[in-house]
Amino acid sequence: MTALPRPFTFSQSSLQDYVDCPRRFELRYIEKLDWPAVEAEPVAENERRMADGNFFHRLAQQFLLGLPAEKLSRLAATPDLSRWWDNFHTNLGGLQDIPGLHPEAVLSAPIRTHRLLAKFDLIAVRDGRAAIYDWKTYHKRPQNEWMAIRMQTRVYRYLLARAGSHLNGGQALTPESIQMTYWYTDFPSDPATFHYDESQFKRDEATLEKLVDEIESLQTFELTSDEGKCRFCPYRSYCNRGVTAGDWHDAEEEAEVHEAFDINFEQIAEIAF
Ligand code: SF4
Repeated sequence: MTALPRPFTFSQSSLQDYVDCPRRFELRYIEKLDWPAVEAEPVAENERRMADGNFFHRLAQQFLLGLPAEKLSRLAATPDLSRWWDNFHTNLGGLQDIPGLHPEAVLSAPIRTHRLLAKFDLIAVRDGRAAIYDWKTYHKRPQNEWMAIRMQTRVYRYLLARAGSHLNGGQALTPESIQMTYWYTDFPSDPATFHYDESQFKRDEATLEKLVDEIESLQTFELTSDEGKCRFCPYRSYCNRGVTAGDWHDAEEEAEVHEAFDINFEQIAEIAF
């Protein structure tokens, strides 16, 4: 077994992978095994949606940085992108005029002897209150209950409370002043917003530290007992959990590109590490 690198940079994706399947966490983040299986069928359609999803995030970022919408709309050249962009511009176009926007903000804080890091689509801070926005290009709108327990919902709000003071003039953002909204490109009138409070913050901190302790102490990273998780996992042939990928229409979430943390750590706002 390869040991967990120290310090290890945990993210919502790596923690979600661990929660979904400890073995996937080990293969992806410790052994860094690049296994050449597709994650979902049909391959070309799935890859196109992933590429469109990434490109949409870039369009939204450029817009929030002040680029003119007319120029960006010309770049939304596929049917999905064009629809998502129209929905975004119609529903969230007013965001561009609000002061205190931080698109693509990266926050980091120590956790035990490691690091917890998140890259946000947008954090908007105004009058001591903060709204996190995350764009989702899911083809099905997930249940709010499902989103509420995702590691992303927990990690993002927690990190902003812990490490977001520089976005608020040096004052810490209280958990009660933070909310997080998932805005769905195909369901523009039905976003999911999650508020936060001190008790959730404490619970998230305890959960995250427990997960890190557990990962650090593991000798064996077990394969998940929920074989449904293997259908959309690139390691399924490696693990003898089937050869054929599931159809992406059946996936509970859409494949998102795994963060490759090509981030300059010097530029990250971080409390003492
Ligand atoms: S194929 Fe299944 S058991 Fe293997 S890493 Fe993926 S989810 Fe885990």
